[in-house]
Amino acid sequence: MHQFLLGLCLFVLSFAGSFSSAADKPNFIVIFCDDLGYNDIGPFGSKLHRTPNLDRMAEEGRTFTQFYSTCGVCSPSRASLLTGAYPKRIGMHQNQEGRWVLFPGDSQGLNPDEVTIAEILKEEGYATACVGKWHLGDQPSFLPTRQGFDRYYGIPFSNDMGELDRPKGMYPPLPFLRDEEVIEEEPDQHFVTKRYTEEAIRFIRENEDKPFFLYLPHTMPHWPQYSSPQFAGRSANGAWGDTVEEIDWSTGAILDELESLGLRENTLILFTSDNGGATRHGASNFPLSGAKGSTMEGGQRIPMIASWPGTIPEGTTSDALASTLDVLPTFAGLAGAEAPTDRTLDGYDISSLLLGKGDQESPYESFLYYFRGSLQAIRSGPWKMHFARKSGKQQLPLRLFHLEKDVGETTNVAEANPEIVKKLQKLAQAARKDLGDDATNTPGSDLRAPGSVENAKPLTTAKN
Ligand code: MG
Repeated sequence: MHQFLLGLCLFVLSFAGSFSSAADKPNFIVIFCDDLGYNDIGPFGSKLHRTPNLDRMAEEGRTFTQFYSTCGVCSPSRASLLTGAYPKRIGMHQNQEGRWVLFPGDSQGLNPDEVTIAEILKEEGYATACVGKWHLGDQPSFLPTRQGFDRYYGIPFSNDMGELDRPKGMYPPLPFLRDEEVIEEEPDQHFVTKRYTEEAIRFIRENEDKPFFLYLPHTMPHWPQYSSPQFAGRSANGAWGDTVEEIDWSTGAILDELESLGLRENTLILFTSDNGGATRHGASNFPLSGAKGSTMEGGQRIPMIASWPGTIPEGTTSDALASTLDVLPTFAGLAGAEAPTDRTLDGYDISSLLLGKGDQESPYESFLYYFRGSLQAIRSGPWKMHFARKSGKQQLPLRLFHLEKDVGETTNVAEANPEIVKKLQKLAQAARKDLGDDATNTPGSDLRAPGSVENAKPLTTAKN
C-alpha cells in the first residue's frame, strides 16, 4: 500500500514537474529600434513624440535609466545583443577594411561559430524569428537563418545602403529578404514598419501554443525616415517623429495581439535601441551629451522598457547599470537553459534587476566604451573616464565625469580626483590586456575571429 502511494506520488510529481516546466517557459520579444534616442519616447521624457503605447508598456513594466549598448553604431551593437560579448571580443567592432559597420557584399560577418540567443532558445524548443534589420553580414553563411532563427523577413542592413537615397553607383539596389531569398529590390520603405509588424503578428499567432522568441529590429527611425500614410507628416518632429510614432503604434499592435491571445503574462518584452539617437536627423538624447557614433553617454545610453505583467513589478524603474550584453545570459536563465561556458561572455544574468527581486546592484565593476578597435572610455560606479585621444584635428585631454552629478559630461573633474583616475586606469589596463586596444597597440589575449568568406558579393546587382 505504501509503495503504491509512493509510486502514485512520484507519478503525480513528475507529471506536474514536466507540465509546469513546459508552461513556465516564457516567450521573449526584443523590439530593437535603430538610432532611437534616450529622450525620444514618453517614458524617457519626450514631450515631442506621442507614444501612448510605450507609455502603457512602461506603466505595466519597468524602465531602465542606465541601460547601454556596447557601441554607438549598428553592426557592433547588434553583435553584442545576440552573443553577450563585446564587439571587440568577437571581431565585430569593424569590417574587414576597418570601417565602423558592415556594408553590402562585405566578406565579414558574425562568426557562425558564435552562439546566439536564438540558438540557445531553439535548443530549448523555441520557435525563433528575426523580422527587420539584421546587419551582421549579408553573405549566405551569415544570415539569420544560419544563426538560430527559423525564419527571417526584412532588409538585411541599413536602409540607406541602396540606390534610392544615394548617389548612383554607390550601392546596388536595397534587398528585401524572406529567409535567404531576395524577394524584392528597393522596397517601398513607407510600408516597412507596417510590414514588419504584420509579419511579427503572423509569427506570434502561428506559435501561440509553443514558446517563441521574436527579434524585431526595426529599420526605423534610421535615415532616411519613411512612414506609412497614416503617420507621415503627423508628428511635431518631422519625419523622425513620424517614424517614432509609427513604431509606437507597432508596439501597441503587438501588445494587443498578445493580450487577445492570452499570452501577455507569459511574454517578456524588451523595447530598446541599437545605439544613441542620431540628433542630426531629429533624435533627442536629452539630458545626455553626444549622439550616435560617439562614446559620450548620448551615443550609447539607450531607452529600455521591460514588460512582463505579473512577473516584472509594474510601473517601476531601475537605475542600475546594465546593458545589451546581459540579454543572452538573462534569457538563457529564464528559459532554463545554460549560457555557453566554453568561451568568455561579457554580460550577466540580470534577472534580479529585471524582476526587482534580490540584489539590485549593477553586476558591472566596469563598463567599456570601445569605438572600432580603441577603448575610448570606461565607467565604474558613477565615474566615467574618457582617455586622451585625437578626434579629427582636435586633441582631447583625459576627462573624468561623475555621472550622477553631471550626466551631461560637461565638467572635467580629473584633476581633483587623482585616486579615481588611477583606479580607472588600472581597470582599463586589465580590459586592454583582455580585449586589446588599437590606440595603445595592446594585442588582447581573449579574442575570437569574425566570420569571413571568400568571393563575397552583394545580394543584388545594379541594372546598368
Ligand atoms: Mg543604429
